[in-house]
Order: sequence, then C-alpha cells, then structure tokens
Amino acid sequence: MDHCGCGADFLDFEPVRKSGIPPRPSGAEVEQAVRTLIAAAGDDPLREGLIETPARVAKAYREWFAGYAVDPARLLERVFSESEDYDDTVLLRDIPLVSTCEHHLAPILGRAHVAYRPDGRVVGISKLSRLVDAYARRLQLQERLTRQIALTLDETLRPRGVAVVIEATHGCMATRGVNQQGVSMVTKCWLGDFRRDAGLRWELMASIGSAPARMES
Ligand SMILES: [Zn+2]
Repeated sequence: MDHCGCGADFLDFEPVRKSGIPPRPSGAEVEQAVRTLIAAAGDDPLREGLIETPARVAKAYREWFAGYAVDPARLLERVFSESEDYDDTVLLRDIPLVSTCEHHLAPILGRAHVAYRPDGRVVGISKLSRLVDAYARRLQLQERLTRQIALTLDETLRPRGVAVVIEATHGCMATRGVNQQGVSMVTKCWLGDFRRDAGLRWELMASIGSAPARMES
C-alpha cells in the first residue's frame, strides 16, 4: 500500500459508529435540540414560521448524514473484467460533492475527481460517485475524505494507481471567521502509478482542467 503523503494521524480516524457511542436520539429529541438552537439564535421556536423547522431539520440530517448507513467497500464489490485490455486512466470528473465540516457543522460544497488505472478490472462509473457520496455524507474533514475515497478504491479494486482530487468551498470559512467567499480548498491523494509518475499527475490535472498552479503534487 502506498501512502499519498497527505496522512496525518487524525486522517486515520474512521468516522463510523463504534461501541460506546450514545444511541441515536429519537426524532422528538432531535427536534427538541433544534428548538434549542433556534432559541440560541435569538428567535422563538414556537413562532408560526418556525413550527415545522425542527422536523425539516431532522429530515435534512438524515440526508446529509446518509453515508453512515453505507459500507463504501461493498459498493465496489461488483467489478467487470470485460475491459481487461484497457489499461489507461479512467477518470470520473466533476462529481458533485456535498459534505459537512465536522468542526462547525457547516456545508462543504464542491467537486470530486476520481481516477484509477485498472489492472484488468473496472467498476461501473456510477459506483465511483456513490463511493464519494458514502464518505462525503458524514461529518468530515476534506483531507480525510480525499484519502478515504482513494484508499477504499485502492483496497477493493487493486488497480495500478488511484488519484482523488477534491475542490471545495467551506461554509465555515465563507460565512464566519475570516468570511472569505470564493476561496476553495484543493486536496489530492495519489497512490501507485500516480504517486510514482509526475507525468501521470500532470496529465490528470490537465484532464480535470485545473490551473497550472495546481499541477504540482
Ligand atoms: Zn469548519
């Protein structure tokens, strides 16, 4: 297993529910927590326009965090060998990315580009975007998200190389603190051939359409 060089210790934390984590609260408890946040914002949770909000937020949470119910490795179980002669890069680019920052519960919005160099086996391309979603729809750090997608693809498909590039804006940066809008963060994880071969990285970044300034690894 190659390591992409983006791994600090915290990146190895796997955000799945482990024993010792409190059980999931009931719908009523979630809604009460949302009413508390509305009151904390300075509004009246019982005001007419806000009456339905806790239930809507609870529903939205189930969508935003649907990834906890998905086993990402199982998404890639079905592989195809019919394309065994194809050995160049397969790239799925501009996969819409919706995630949530684990430090502020703020949205992370962007695009993911996932590439691999097959070694006799390929996966359906829709599986790559579902893989991104399975990890993105959790409480995340962009660095860890990038690495998890790459490592799962590497471990399940055993290709000759994997590259994952994510460009995203962070709500916590655009709407609070430094209030910087239009700033995006780019993270990359290169494994196998992509880690060894600068030419492949260059070609991939060109295919994605990134600025030359981003092309070095
Ligand atoms: Zn944040």
